[in-house]
Amino acid sequence: MPDAPNPTPIRQARCPYCGREFEYKSVAEHKPFPFCSARCRDVDLGKWFSGAYAIPGEELPADPDEATPERDAT
Ligand SMILES: [Zn+2]
Repeated sequence: MPDAPNPTPIRQARCPYCGREFEYKSVAEHKPFPFCSARCRDVDLGKWFSGAYAIPGEELPADPDEATPERDAT
């Protein structure tokens, strides 16, 4: 395989928050990845904290299938 002519190929990705396509060289260099910018990342993270993606605090009821059915000893 010949070396790529461009040592730092530009990759493209789509921001999951604003949907804008953006270019980045590497995930290491693009800190807000996979978002286009730190702003989008912060806003998206903020949604987590504000409860938009809130995970219900209630415990799920036990799965009845996991309970061992009682068997009558014959
Ligand atoms: Zn964005």
